[in-house]
Amino acid sequence: MFESLTERFDRVLRKITGRGLLSEAQVDETLREIRVALLEADVNLDVVKSFTEQLRTRLKGAEVKEGLTPPQTVLKEVFDEVVHLLGDQKANLQLSSKPPTVIMLMGLQGSGKTTTAAKLAYHFRQSGRRVLLVASDLARLAAVEQLKVLGEQINVPVVGPEEGVSNPRDMFPKVRKKWIEGMHEVVILDTAGRLSIDQNLMKELSDLRELYKPKEALLVLDAMTGQESVHVAKAFDETIGIDGVIFTKLDGDARGGAILSIRSVMGKPIKFVGVGEKIDKLEPFHPDRMASRIIG
Ligand code: GDP
Repeated sequence: MFESLTERFDRVLRKITGRGLLSEAQVDETLREIRVALLEADVNLDVVKSFTEQLRTRLKGAEVKEGLTPPQTVLKEVFDEVVHLLGDQKANLQLSSKPPTVIMLMGLQGSGKTTTAAKLAYHFRQSGRRVLLVASDLARLAAVEQLKVLGEQINVPVVGPEEGVSNPRDMFPKVRKKWIEGMHEVVILDTAGRLSIDQNLMKELSDLRELYKPKEALLVLDAMTGQESVHVAKAFDETIGIDGVIFTKLDGDARGGAILSIRSVMGKPIKFVGVGEKIDKLEPFHPDRMASRIIG
């Protein structure tokens, strides 16, 4: 994950030598290299600009602390600024005061939505909660089957459509009945995706959002798609409204640009990250841990 970005940061920091405060030339050189590293990782240009300006302010005022060398001081400043860029604090999932908590997952086809729905269900089951999965991706019958298979593996019931139902709105009464009868505390809704954003999909998702009134409407994004996922997030937020994002496929060779850009561009938190195909490969997102992984 983020190998080239991590390598770059390492190289930048190793160039800093000497014992006193950084000279202005050293600050300029360091910032220039960091700018290139971030652009290469596909970070949004505006984000790169504001990041390097904030870092300049930090580095100019930085005092080399007792026991730290100048490179370690710079490392600490870069680390703190990356944590800030990633949202500072861990953003927890909001739970409804009156159960069930409905979580709606949205995203483009292939982003990892269905897998993430099952991973989230598993996550809640592990903490002893009664979970219900809803397969409302009726555009792709294979998606309903896929969720049913995953639900069986983790012992979580899955509600699918009745014969002949093609609009996921029509499933709502059955789903509601099921969650009342089963006293479910968490209901996770898998929705339809498309290869690209289209108006019919947006309308379907807006309708579902209105109907289910989810506590969390989360967008699932493939970390490998870089900047493109930031555009996707903007479109979903403008038309439907999202409360946060989940990045998948961080175990692949994503460059890191999307993850580093999203919070600053959208103002929405990253809540979880997918780090593998298996059901337990979903982690709550911790800005400081992610910053450590990026900086190395
Ligand atoms: P959907 O079309 O958005 O519902 O996507 P799927 O859930 O079917 O996932 C598409 C592919 O991505 C599948 O092969 C998943 O196994 C894979 N996938 C999902 N999340 C992750 C992840 O975090 N890491 C890896 N390596 N693969 C993932």
